[in-house]
This record gives sequence, C-alpha cells and structure tokens, in this order.
Amino acid sequence: MMRTLGMPLAKLERGEGCWVEDDEGNRYLDFLAGIAVNSLGHAHPVFVEAVSRQAATLAHVSNYFATAPALELADRLVRLSGAGESGRVWFGNSGAEANEAAFKLARLNNSGGARTRVLALVDAFHGRTMGSLALTGKPAMRDGFEPLPGGVQHLPSTIEALEAEMDESVAALILEPIKGEAGVLDLPDGYLQAARDLTRRHGALLIIDEVQTGAGRTGAWFAFQHAGIVPDAITVAKGIGGGIPIGALVTFGDASELYSKGQHGSTFGGNPLATAVAGAVLDEIERADLVGNAARRGVELRERVLAMGSPLVGGVRGRGLLVGIALTEPVAPALSAAALDAGLIVNAANDSTIRLAPPLIIGDGELDEFEARFARALATVSEPRR
Ligand SMILES: *Cc1c(COP(=O)(O)O)cnc(C)c1O
Repeated sequence: MMRTLGMPLAKLERGEGCWVEDDEGNRYLDFLAGIAVNSLGHAHPVFVEAVSRQAATLAHVSNYFATAPALELADRLVRLSGAGESGRVWFGNSGAEANEAAFKLARLNNSGGARTRVLALVDAFHGRTMGSLALTGKPAMRDGFEPLPGGVQHLPSTIEALEAEMDESVAALILEPIKGEAGVLDLPDGYLQAARDLTRRHGALLIIDEVQTGAGRTGAWFAFQHAGIVPDAITVAKGIGGGIPIGALVTFGDASELYSKGQHGSTFGGNPLATAVAGAVLDEIERADLVGNAARRGVELRERVLAMGSPLVGGVRGRGLLVGIALTEPVAPALSAAALDAGLIVNAANDSTIRLAPPLIIGDGELDEFEARFARALATVSEPRR
C-alpha cells in the first residue's frame, strides 16, 4: 500500500458491537468507531441485513436511472436536516466528495462573476482532494500540493474576523460546527448565529460541514441544530453510512436551485447499495433514539473522564459522543499507544488532545470498560513523571 499515512497500529480481523479483534486474537474496545463512522458499532444486525438484502436485490445502476433507496434516503436527509420542501440532495461516496460538491455550489453562487471569495477557518479539515484541500486550513496537509483551487481564505474562528472579511465578494463561508480533526475544537458561543446573520446579509452561502458531527453524534441529528439556525447547505458522510462509503450534499431553500443539468456527477454516488444501507442505519438511529443516547452518554462519558482526577487531564471539549480530552502535557500519542496496549482504541487528534468518537450504541457496560482501560493507560503514561 502507498505510504500516505503512518504504520498501521494493528491488523484487525473482525468486530462485534463496540469491540474489534486483531489477527492475534487481542480484543479492543473501539472508542474511535473508524473515526465517527461505525454509528451502530460493528456487524450490527440492521447493517448486515441491509447490505445482504440490497446486494441480493440491486447493488448498482447508472445515474440514468432512479432507485427507491436513493429517493428514500434523500427524503430522509431532507426531513432530518429540516431542509423541508425546497431541500435537495446530491450523493457522492465520501466526505471529501461531498465538500467538492459544496465548493462547486459556492462557485455557482457568483452573482455574475462578482463573488470570487470563499471563506473557511484556520485549522479546518474538509478532506484531501484538491478542492476539499483548498478549503482545509492545515498547512501541513497542503504543503507540496499547491497551487490549489484559488480564492479561499482562512480566517481565525472569531466573530470579529468574520465581520471584518464578510462583504458582497464572498460566495460562501464553509465551516465545521466542531473542528474534529483539529482536536475537537468548539466554535465560540454565538459564532454560528453570527455566521448566519452575516452571510445572509451579504448574500453568501453558509455551508456547514457535518461530515464528522452529523448523524446524531453530537446529540442532535446535525450539530448546527444546537444553534437554532438554518444553513444553505450541509455536507454529510462518515456516520450516515455506518461503514458503507457514502457522502452527500444537502441544500436548503434557494441554494437548491444553483446546480443545473450536467454540472456534477459521480458513477457510484447514490447507488442503491450504499443508499439502502445508509437508510437502514439512519432508520435504526431514529428507532432506537441513538441521538438521545449520544447526548446522555456524552454527558456521562465527560463526567467519568473528569472524575478520574488525573493531573494529565486538563478538560473536555466537544458535544455528545464527539469528545476531545485536553491534556496538560503533549503526551497524546504515548497515551493512545498505552490505551491500545490496555485494549482500548482512542485517537491522538494532536499532541495534546485525545479524541473519542465511540459507536452511538454505547451503554453502561462500555463506559465501565472504557474507564478501567483509560485509567490504566493514564497510569502508564503518568508514572515515569511522578
Ligand atoms: C473526515 C472528514 C472529511 C473528509 O471525509 P472523507 O470521507 O475522508 O473524504 C471532511 N470533513 C470533515 C469535517 C471530516 O471530519
């Protein structure tokens, strides 16, 4: 395989519920869930049944044809996001592709060529394709790939910076409601409301990247809903498929009229296999109230982390089951390695942040196991310093 990433941490062979097992028979409690993807955990009967049934019925057709699973999933996304009557959906296969579609949507909001700028945030992560990388505000990821598609400007995440830069030359503002890859960084209070007001006043689109935060993870179907605003578009991927590759752009109101015939497409995007599985995953999240579970378990998980009383833990960020544990020392890589040794998968989002994104199905048993294993990892890492 290409050396685009670091060495694999283990070779995984199977999973069930919130647990995975490697090729040596070691079991790990999975508190990363494939980076907020495995919403229902591993090998969930609903997921298995949906894959099997749809694969045995109709897996793929070209975009010259409609299928019931794609139409039903589009309806569901429009309903859950509150896009309503005017809502429209475009399907791709990943978060980056959903953001490519959003970037092109921004270009279409050009007011006859007058709007040339797209605003994004410093530290933002929107994907690794050239367009989504142009939106990404992390120099380490961009280095070596410039020139990227132009006109994108990265602002600090303050209302003042947005006020200073917003005018009639802006086509769109794109942002994550919580910056997941950057270390589960929350936006300042009132930021999304201010972003909505400013973009509306100046005719710019407000595009919210819900790839990591969507599908119930933060204790709402989509994180923007906590702020009580209505965006012009959202992008989703990761958790909506529960493990099947899928991404989507959902537009609201007038933004639904920007794309016209022939302007975008994808061979696999919206195929009946992926859309049937995502539909079944979202249906199960609704049926079992996993959005409510994410909210409740998120509170409990935070309380438990803080109650451990480790001097290494400085605080918690994020919302619901997207948790950033702020460390008082830059030992996140050592801590995640110690956790793996203790049979627990967590992620070092940066040197001083541990990111947790467990399946939305976690209960008391998983919280107990997490606490015991994470305590062991913390002890291993703090011991040599005492
Ligand atoms: C993961 C992620 C992406 C990219 O999704 P891919 O499926 O890896 O292309 C984009 N935006 C956010 C906020 C993400 O977390």
